[in-house]
Parts: sequence; structure tokens; C-alpha cells
Amino acid sequence: MADCDLCGVSIPTVCPVKVFEPKFEHSYPAGKWKGLCERCLDSAKEVYDKHAQESEGNVCMMPGDSFGTCDFCGNATQLYDVEVKIPSFTKVYENETKHLCRKCLEGCNEAYSRKGECFGEHH
Ligand SMILES: [Zn+2]
Ligand SMILES: [Zn+2]
Repeated sequence: MADCDLCGVSIPTVCPVKVFEPKFEHSYPAGKWKGLCERCLDSAKEVYDKHAQESEGNVCMMPGDSFGTCDFCGNATQLYDVEVKIPSFTKVYENETKHLCRKCLEGCNEAYSRKGECFGEHH
């Protein structure tokens, strides 16, 4: 079993997402892998698509929703709101807004292309 690094749900497989944590910049200059469940990956991809604008092969991101510390990599920068559902004991799920930076959203977008491999194509 693995835990989703965003909502904490325990599932058999998480999709690896490359993140660059500033505090590990020296020990892991190439970034580290975190894992996302399918639902969080979908939410992050949706937010990325809403904010990324492609022009002449370059992707530029629209300004973030707020400024603060990224919930995923700890980078202090512009953040984008991502709605996730946290498994809860009282209710089935609780909606929570997580804040991700541009780099992490790009990582999610990249991971999304491997989504089929991670979660299976449901044969
Ligand atoms: Zn999740
Ligand atoms: Zn981040």
C-alpha cells in the first residue's frame, strides 16, 4: 500500500510525481518523487489546464491564486488552488483546498501522461 502525498488516502498504487523541494536542493538536485492518487492527479491536471496557456510551443502560466508555501514541495512562491477530497472518519470525504506551485503542477501534468501505466487501464 502507498499513501497519497496530497490527500493521505491509502491505495495500492500512487502515480509518481517529480517535485523539487528547496530544502533538499543539495541532496536531491534532480528532484524527488512523491506519489499522488488518481483523484488528486485529476484535480491537479484540471487546475494546470485551466491556468496554462500555450502559445507558439511555449507554455506560460497565468498568475496564481495566492502567495505562500507550496503544500507539496515547500517552495515559497505563487500558488494555485487545488481541490482535494480528504478521507475522513466522520464523513466519507471532506473537501479541502491545497495549494500547489507551478513546478508541482507541471510535474502533475507530466505524471498525468503516465496515468494509464500507474493505475492500469481497467482490463
Ligand atoms: Zn490523493
Ligand atoms: Zn510545489
